[in-house]
Amino acid sequence: MSGEFDLIRTYFSAATGQRDDCVLGIGDDCALLTVPAGKQLAVSLDTLVSGRHFLESTDPERLGHKALAVNLSDLAAMGAQPAWVTLGMTLPAADVAWRSWLSAFMQGFAGLAAQHNVQLVGGDTTRGPLSFSVQVHGFVEPGEALRRDAAQPGDKVYVSGTLGDAALGLKVLLGALESADNPNELVRQLEVPVPRVELGRNLLGLARAAIDISDGLLADLGHICQKSGVGMRLRCDQLPLSAEVAGYLELGGDWSIPLAGGDDYELAFTVPPDKSSEVERLGDTLGMSLRCVGEVLEKPGITVLDIDGKTLDVLGEGYDHFR
Ligand code: ADP
Ligand code: MG
Repeated sequence: MSGEFDLIRTYFSAATGQRDDCVLGIGDDCALLTVPAGKQLAVSLDTLVSGRHFLESTDPERLGHKALAVNLSDLAAMGAQPAWVTLGMTLPAADVAWRSWLSAFMQGFAGLAAQHNVQLVGGDTTRGPLSFSVQVHGFVEPGEALRRDAAQPGDKVYVSGTLGDAALGLKVLLGALESADNPNELVRQLEVPVPRVELGRNLLGLARAAIDISDGLLADLGHICQKSGVGMRLRCDQLPLSAEVAGYLELGGDWSIPLAGGDDYELAFTVPPDKSSEVERLGDTLGMSLRCVGEVLEKPGITVLDIDGKTLDVLGEGYDHFR
């Protein structure tokens, strides 16, 4: 970072709180970090590009939140506890307008970081088309992480929260949804996702496989099936739906919204059948919907039964994420 970008340094250096395990944070060539004895480091990076993953008109404070949230969601899906984050920021310019954009972005970013005791420990800043990469680092007990390759036939398939709200939010932004009762709430679901970190931590020792639903339920469960060498049967009448998405479907809307719509950032996980009552208790404890939507089968492939119990053609139009 040099020249015109020097000013920008101040936006990062004290953006988040200090953790004891960060020996040296922003300001040197590297950060120096201490991984707690007996823990594994879980690392994940996501890049968001303007025009592809978000609209440039998006509220920067919400973007800052989302940039961190989508990464925390990956840690949540492994059952890891977040600790540190680095940020690669590419900005078109460092003028007053972009500095105020960055200030708002960092406010959203730091707000979520504070909720999870995450420290920004370094990064890089360059000039170019607007985009940013966030890398998160978290801790998990060795051998305990929730992996995609651990599902077994007979497991129940669970989903947290509700499905399809973010996809409807995108329709609202694109002007393609007139019937919504509360369009602002749908857009909020898209722009301000809540990473299910606490749920992920509580699933250690309970769930077998887990994934976060960023690309849509079918696509992400497809990853579990592929890695685990199994299949699944899902039931549309079991899908957890908000009143908005249920209303959309009642008006003849497309089931690809809850089944294949992206950006929900809920967790999908498989659980041995004898542990389903434990999952129900966990949902009560966390005050969160954890719904069984189907089961794991030996035979590869995902079958979806529609509300009449007939097999739904999920390879048809509208399911392109799945393809
Ligand atoms: P270098 O030339 O060694 O890469 P930089 O000038 O890029 O150093 O960065 C100086 C310090 O500021 C480093 O500690 C770096 O981690 C930090 N930094 C730069 N950009 C960011 C950013 N976007 N977020 C957090 N820290 C940053
Ligand atoms: Mg640098």
